Amino acid sequence: MKLDTTGLESRIFEGLSITSRRKYMYACNMRTNVSRWSTYAVEDFGLPGEYFTEADKVWGEHIHPDDRETYFEDIRAVFAGEKNTHNLEYRVLDKEGNYVMCTCRGVVVRGENGEHDLFVGSITNHGITELVDATTNLYNVYGFLQAIRKRNGEKWLIMLVGINRFSIVNDVYGYAFGDRVLKKLASDLMKLTQGKGMTYRMDGAKFALVFNHPEEVDVEAVYADIQQMTKQQMIIEGNHIPLTVSCGVVKTDHADTGEYTIQASASYALEKSKRTMHGELVYFQDEFQEYSRTTLELLDVMRQNVMEGCKGFYMCYQPVVAANTGNIIGMEALLRWNSEPYGEVPPGRFIPWLENDPCFFELGNWILERAMTEGKPIIEKYPEFVINVNVSATQLERRKFRESVMEILHKTGFPPTNLCLELTERCRAMDMEYLRTEIHFFRSHGIKVALDDFGTGHSSLELLCEFPLDCLKIDRGFVRDIEENKAAQVVVDSIVQCANGLGMKVCVEGIENEQLRDFIRQYDAYSHQGYLYSRPIPMDEFRLLLA
Ligand code: C2E
Ligand code: MG
Ligand code: MG
Repeated sequence: MKLDTTGLESRIFEGLSITSRRKYMYACNMRTNVSRWSTYAVEDFGLPGEYFTEADKVWGEHIHPDDRETYFEDIRAVFAGEKNTHNLEYRVLDKEGNYVMCTCRGVVVRGENGEHDLFVGSITNHGITELVDATTNLYNVYGFLQAIRKRNGEKWLIMLVGINRFSIVNDVYGYAFGDRVLKKLASDLMKLTQGKGMTYRMDGAKFALVFNHPEEVDVEAVYADIQQMTKQQMIIEGNHIPLTVSCGVVKTDHADTGEYTIQASASYALEKSKRTMHGELVYFQDEFQEYSRTTLELLDVMRQNVMEGCKGFYMCYQPVVAANTGNIIGMEALLRWNSEPYGEVPPGRFIPWLENDPCFFELGNWILERAMTEGKPIIEKYPEFVINVNVSATQLERRKFRESVMEILHKTGFPPTNLCLELTERCRAMDMEYLRTEIHFFRSHGIKVALDDFGTGHSSLELLCEFPLDCLKIDRGFVRDIEENKAAQVVVDSIVQCANGLGMKVCVEGIENEQLRDFIRQYDAYSHQGYLYSRPIPMDEFRLLLA
């Protein structure tokens, strides 16, 4: 058997050139110095054409001045016969005027008599990410973001569908089988958008169905199809794998809403569908009715502000007082955002949303640094004073978070023992083992750890027994009507005793008046927080309060 070799070289080159959007091929005839480059390279770097001479010089001009010398020296050595391979990393200027990191590999192919014949290789552009998911062959999350970025003012409807607890499939049947499930699901979902839009494989076991004409889509019917499909029709290699799904829906009314904002909004709605609505459809817009039409716009501005060095964000501080004396012993740092024309937007409204955006990690670091910088003079004066900073799951789940905390402590010179990290509600839904190692890490460095919002969401007693913690904060929802509510009294009493028995301090939040304070004093809590003592205030006011 033989290949038909007519024009084989050319066809191989063309074939290889399109296997990847970020990998360019090149081949240079070392005698004539004519070379051929992939059309993608020509497009991305504005090269003279597919064929040109003296490629080393042409390409060399695109290379960053600092990397040029090494490049020219290596190419010289290859052409002088001193070496057969070329393997370098350097920065290259693309057509848009940005430097992108590239890896260039090449090898000398010798002719029949051992003479230098061809120099062939590939250049990988690290500035370009693959747009296709290898498992499902669907466009991936980058393809999704790019498509949204490129839309021309069209209205779209996005259904972000997540498979609930997909990791179980992987655990029980193995990853290869899990991939086959995703593949089948991908092809089933694709049928729903055929001719009407596109299906994308997002991160993890999530798919985005994007419809071009929202007015023509019956979202409820599409979702019913998906539910039916995943529950009943997932038969793979004779195994019936019933899956359940959750779904968040976003309509893009404003043509100029950024792609990351849309992505984060869809994630927010999906998260809500999964966590509190048992997989029922959640429409993003319904979530923020008081901001009505400007919701996405507002979140877009906020996200932009985060990227611009946390513009418009600032910290307020609320005192934490000793339960018996009312003396200020610490404070909680609380985030605020104020931007024209929206004015002051309360954190309870934007934080749950922003937590779905990877940018929250940057914001979280900014919060820590602000709080430590602004709080340090107080610590110098009152060495026992403790500053509480809230930490969200989006921060904690990043392995880099602990490093960031240590770096910020180092940078600000803030003593670790005066810092207390408050784990907010969603942190507690994280993997227990992971949570344990992170808590252990912080505490082994002297940093205190508190459980925030105790009494809401994930607040099992198991958590209390499992983790060594410094403090437990009882949510104000529990004490609001405690004077009349017998059940709340019993619960608060038990929680306080339980925590004290385990060596944790208890802070009761939401003390709004003296009567409530006096009532709460009967429990053996360590500290109080609430409007009675002070609302959250900026640092200059806080200093006055302390004085
Ligand atoms: P939290 O951490 O439980 O913070 C306490 C919240 O209760 C604050 O609301 C505070 O202003 C409010 N509060 C305090 N005393 C009283 C009172 O006596 N009565 C009433 N009605 N409310 C009181 P805020 O500042 O609106 O924050 C809401 C939530 O947003 C916080 O709950 C926290 O979960 C989150 N948050 C705020 N700042 C940050 C932050 O910097 N990072 C993170 N990850 N989350 C934050
Ligand atoms: Mg808190
Ligand atoms: Mg709290």
